[in-house]
Amino acid sequence: MWIGGAEVAGADERWMPVINPATEEEIDRVPEGTLYEVDDAVKAAEAAFPSWAAKNPRERGILLFRGAALVRERHADLARFLTMEQGKPLKDAVDEVRGFANVLEYYAALSSSLTGECLPLGSSGDAMVTHEPLGVCGAIIPWNMPALLMAWKIAPALVAGNTMVFKPASQTPLTSLRLANLLEEAGIPPGTLNVVTGRGEVVGEALVRHPGVQKISFTGDAETGMRVQELAAGSLKSVTLELGGSDPMIVWEDADIEKAVAGAVRGRFYNAGQTCTAVKRLFVHQSIGERFVRMLKSRVEGLKVGNGLSAGVEMGPLSGAPQRNRIEKVMEHLTSRGQGLILTGGMRLQERPLERGYFYAPTVVTDVHPESPLLSQEIFGPVLPVMCVPDLETAIRHANNTRYGLGASVWTHDITVAREVFSRVQAGVVWVNRHLTLPPEIPFGGFKSSGIGRENGTQALHSYTRTKSLYIGW
Ligand code: NAD
Repeated sequence: MWIGGAEVAGADERWMPVINPATEEEIDRVPEGTLYEVDDAVKAAEAAFPSWAAKNPRERGILLFRGAALVRERHADLARFLTMEQGKPLKDAVDEVRGFANVLEYYAALSSSLTGECLPLGSSGDAMVTHEPLGVCGAIIPWNMPALLMAWKIAPALVAGNTMVFKPASQTPLTSLRLANLLEEAGIPPGTLNVVTGRGEVVGEALVRHPGVQKISFTGDAETGMRVQELAAGSLKSVTLELGGSDPMIVWEDADIEKAVAGAVRGRFYNAGQTCTAVKRLFVHQSIGERFVRMLKSRVEGLKVGNGLSAGVEMGPLSGAPQRNRIEKVMEHLTSRGQGLILTGGMRLQERPLERGYFYAPTVVTDVHPESPLLSQEIFGPVLPVMCVPDLETAIRHANNTRYGLGASVWTHDITVAREVFSRVQAGVVWVNRHLTLPPEIPFGGFKSSGIGRENGTQALHSYTRTKSLYIGW
């Protein structure tokens, strides 16, 4: 744990192992935090707040720029840790660490845009509107993108003048701890960013309940998000909730099939399918369905699966045994009810050299029964259901047939089709001829059970401020 600029052990001296999902070996251990460390971290953040908030926003921006530069310099080392604790291929881990630096730089550059308004109101008076930081903010993230999701939360919060208590997922605390260290090395004062490791039900809940915390930004499962919102209501905290998704990808009859196949493979199998905005359901126009599915099968069967540290690996393991068990249950449900045809995959990968590790074969399912959970729920693993559809009406109806509304994509060159999907599919982000791309400039967040509020863009910066008005009567 990293509290007030120092490494801290838990009050009851319990430790949590960090397991490499590709080898099942323990690579490190971190303290299992308690309510006491959460309280210490909030106090450290409260103590650091006045001087951090009093800085000229540009000064805060400069420190974030320095932090980003250090992260870029040490990216190789950071990416290695990320792969070892999380499983994704090294190349993707490098991209994620660079993504962390990109987000820091984006918000650092926005620091001078934190302005207010001056309103002359005639002879009766003048008014001024300012945007103040909130105080101590709490952030909680899952294990699938420990670097990028950390940046999405800490960068706007810190630039806006807040201090933070950050809780990484129990499975992936190492990269976050290293990143927090580097930011302090870059000059961010001790206590400004604190990291408390531990279990969600203990550390996470204590952070959400803490009266000293003004806002919680949470990313994770929809059920946990609802619990967070309920707990936050107890002290009337504002919340940003980035929750699950079941993103549809619609491939239209005029689509560039090769590009769409490549987009589907990357969109579903990146990070072993464990991405909130992964392509979780694919609807293809029936006129190109057969050709599309043939090409998809061949490309998926060619994916190189293995330890993310090995050269050329395109897909790593699942995050752990619980995640793999969940996928196996979903597949058992599908096969026992005859709700789909497994075109490829559908099993563990444990033969040499993968006899250890939580690997699961990249899987494509066709002829999916409309009632199958694959077509409405969030499947957080490398399983892609494909359904042929006769018209856009059917595609849009299926696309919206889920409690989620995070992302969606349509692959077409027909502007009318693109426009129709954009306006009728219920999702926070709609891509045309892309999926997954999330630059820090565009606001990101969900409709329906996919969340509340937005990360990225200027909206996120403003969500870490509160508006104060001054009226001067003459
Ligand atoms: P999770 O909800 O189990 O855990 C997320 C974080 O919350 C972890 O740090 C965990 O320790 C903590 N936590 C658990 N119980 C808590 C509680 N009662 N109070 C406070 N904190 C608690 O989610 P997960 O399984 O780690 O992550 C996968 C989920 O995250 C998927 O649903 C995925 O779609 C979602 N996700 C969403 C986004 C997005 O931006 N929308 C991004 C990535 C992942």
